[in-house]
Amino acid sequence: MNRRPVITIDGPAGAGKSTISRLLAERLSFIYLDTGALYRAVALRLRSQGWDGREDRLAALCRNIRVEMRKVGDRLRVFTEGDDVTEKIRSEEIGLQASRVSAVPAVREMLLSVQREAAAGGGVVAEGRDMGSVVFPDAEVKFFLDASVEERAKRRYLELTAKGDAVRQRDIEEDLLLRDRQDRGRSIAPLVCPPDAVIIDSTDKTISQVVDIMLSAINKSGHLCRLHNKYP
Ligand code: C5P
Repeated sequence: MNRRPVITIDGPAGAGKSTISRLLAERLSFIYLDTGALYRAVALRLRSQGWDGREDRLAALCRNIRVEMRKVGDRLRVFTEGDDVTEKIRSEEIGLQASRVSAVPAVREMLLSVQREAAAGGGVVAEGRDMGSVVFPDAEVKFFLDASVEERAKRRYLELTAKGDAVRQRDIEEDLLLRDRQDRGRSIAPLVCPPDAVIIDSTDKTISQVVDIMLSAINKSGHLCRLHNKYP
């Protein structure tokens, strides 16, 4: 029997990947796989272990970290050592730390199998930095979602202040630029646009416009029509 497709969405921090991946997964009745959450969970765990920032200690520490995705209801949630940390990992500070630890080969290696296992049955929208390039190179449909840094900072600012976080837009913009540099400049699995990805610049687009562009590209690819004749 044909496996349901894997759809990948890569792009820089704040480009709207999470919101859009979640909505796209909902529209397709697929599972949303937020791989950044795994790197954030590792960062959180390292912080609670009192990691001193020395990368040469990371491989040993990683051996004792258990990170997994579990399906709760119709969503995947992230657990470390049995604790559900899905909400705890959402701060800017943990995001920056995640960007640092994600450059370490031992961390990426550990999370590769977690990601592939989570998507083993197909029917997944996988979001991250290296989905189409490294983790799921054979994904049926790949997207690269981008936006200007000003727009990305503005969106992140609105999101965080709505939660009650006291943040400044300029600081967020600086954090994003730093994360972009870290994510694009690392030697292992850098953020790149896969050559076979559909590129979407969301700077001047609404969320629903982006989702519609994606649904139409997925439709054109023919993978859904074969498997779900109910769509569109
Ligand atoms: O997407 P999110 O902001 O949650 O990701 C946190 C960090 O995890 C990113 O800045 C990136 O460095 C790292 N990451 C990664 N590969 C992925 C997903 C996230 O390196 N597939």
